Amino acid sequence: MGSPVCGFLKQNNIIFLRFFAILVLSCIPNRTNLCSNPSFDTPTIPPHSSSSSIPSSLKTLTLDGYFSFENLKHAAKDFGNICHYLPIAVLHPKSVSDISSTIKHILYMSSVTKLTVAARGRGHSLQGQAQAYQGVVINMESLDRPSMYIENGEVPYVDVSGGELWINILHETLKYGLSPKSWTDYLHLTVGGTLSNAGISGQAFRHGPQINNVYQLEVVTGRGEVVTCSDKENADLFYGVLGGLGQFGIITRARISLVPAKKMVKWIRVLYSEFSTFSNDQEHLISSNNSFDYIEGFVMINRTGLLNNWRSSFNPKDPIQASQFSSDGKILYCLEMVKYFNPEKIDVLNQDIEKLLSELNYIPSTLFLSEVSYVEFLDRVHLSEIKLRSKGLWEVPHPWLNLLIPKSRIFDFAEGVFGNIVKDNNNGPILIYPVNKAKWNNRTSMVTPEEDIIYLVAFLSSALPGTDGLEHIMTQNQHILDFCAKAQLGAKQYLPHYHTQDEWRAHFGTQWETFVQRKSAYDPLAILAPGQRIFQKAISIT
Ligand code: FAD
Repeated sequence: MGSPVCGFLKQNNIIFLRFFAILVLSCIPNRTNLCSNPSFDTPTIPPHSSSSSIPSSLKTLTLDGYFSFENLKHAAKDFGNICHYLPIAVLHPKSVSDISSTIKHILYMSSVTKLTVAARGRGHSLQGQAQAYQGVVINMESLDRPSMYIENGEVPYVDVSGGELWINILHETLKYGLSPKSWTDYLHLTVGGTLSNAGISGQAFRHGPQINNVYQLEVVTGRGEVVTCSDKENADLFYGVLGGLGQFGIITRARISLVPAKKMVKWIRVLYSEFSTFSNDQEHLISSNNSFDYIEGFVMINRTGLLNNWRSSFNPKDPIQASQFSSDGKILYCLEMVKYFNPEKIDVLNQDIEKLLSELNYIPSTLFLSEVSYVEFLDRVHLSEIKLRSKGLWEVPHPWLNLLIPKSRIFDFAEGVFGNIVKDNNNGPILIYPVNKAKWNNRTSMVTPEEDIIYLVAFLSSALPGTDGLEHIMTQNQHILDFCAKAQLGAKQYLPHYHTQDEWRAHFGTQWETFVQRKSAYDPLAILAPGQRIFQKAISIT
């Protein structure tokens, strides 16, 4: 089927190109119907006219992998568990050409159908971003690649499939004594999924997010073309795809930079009762030479017995003083730091840590330490996953809200939100930590506030079964967003989710025009990643 489709595209290229820009832009919905309702099952995109003929049309494709047309409910579900859009088919590709042929076929059909395509990594999105209502979902994990290739030379890297999980990359690269530099807190996410967002964790202050630690990508664009891109080759596509919310192409391979790995980590937590002291120390650490390798932090509002919970995995430096510590009902801020080390260098490590800690102003009785393997530390959230799954608490709705706040306004944010809008964090952790944006590459599609230091603030809530939790949390999230807007904090959403075209335009700000131009260039009919709800699929007029 491949060549007739190509022929069709060549013949119609000129007409096609003439129409696409107008179509894509004019079809951006002014107001889309969003899945703010948990039992939502309504389409954002109207069904195509001849849906019954589509499965048979897809069946005509010659593939290395296969389509499934039944039992597709899993593809209408994600970690957020709030949005559920049933696709018409799921592609289980075995090769990059399966993905390319499918997209070309959908382009070929585009005068009669509004069929769209969503790459799905592990489906850890929050609001249906990896779903495609009545479209085709591509199960990226089934993409069959040769095993990971590791280059162990002067500039080490690993070549991996876009559907590869970061945990597998960690295990494989460690066999060579190497490791990626920049992580997410949870590693059972795919390369394509995190690179479409950013991939931010406690290493980003030094190395930038994951999207800044990629040398090369192989991408199937919304035109069905397979393109290799990097800083030197097809750079516009390369930077567009990184942080591009899946809008410009499907990542089928990524070349990720590596560094020599250490074997162990020293993991430290200390507490503060004053936000300004806490954030000053965080900012001091992210700007220091020879600092920690990972710096994060979290907020605890109305949490009792907290230090007792830590004792199962952390040891207090001074057990007697720690047992006498009382928060007196105050909001507490925990600074979390990690330094990587090899066991034979433990003495040097201890000296370095002592020096770094001596520069901080935490509550002395709250110094807690732990020592675990590098893998155990990086894969730490998986342990919580196992526990939550065993209690049926992993697959609950997750109305998460992630924000990026400029340093100059973080105090206003903390004052307005912690203890005022958010009166407890019983629904889940609230992370807060600064990163040096100066270390980030600003050519990617990712949008951040305009300051050198920005804070990631993540409200990682779970809505427990049988409560009004989901509604309550979503209302609270909206209050936080309203507060940010009213106080003009210059905040940006991370893992963004918006309702209207104006909101997307405001989110991208000066980058909006570039984003739209890239969409026109690489996915002119807006076939890709419809679940982000930025553009709506256009019908080609021939
Ligand atoms: P999916 O959810 O399947 O896809 C995400 C988006 O990318 C969709 O739009 C999809 O269409 C698109 N996409 C998927 N694969 C490809 C591909 N190969 N090519 C192009 N587009 C593609 N994020 C952080 O930055 N830092 C964290 O510390 C962090 N911790 C997390 C912890 C947990 C428990 C969870 C559930 C998520 C966390 N995330 C974190 C968010 C994570 O980055 C996103 O959920 C992201 O969506 C990755 O999930 P995924 O691989 O399952 O991708």
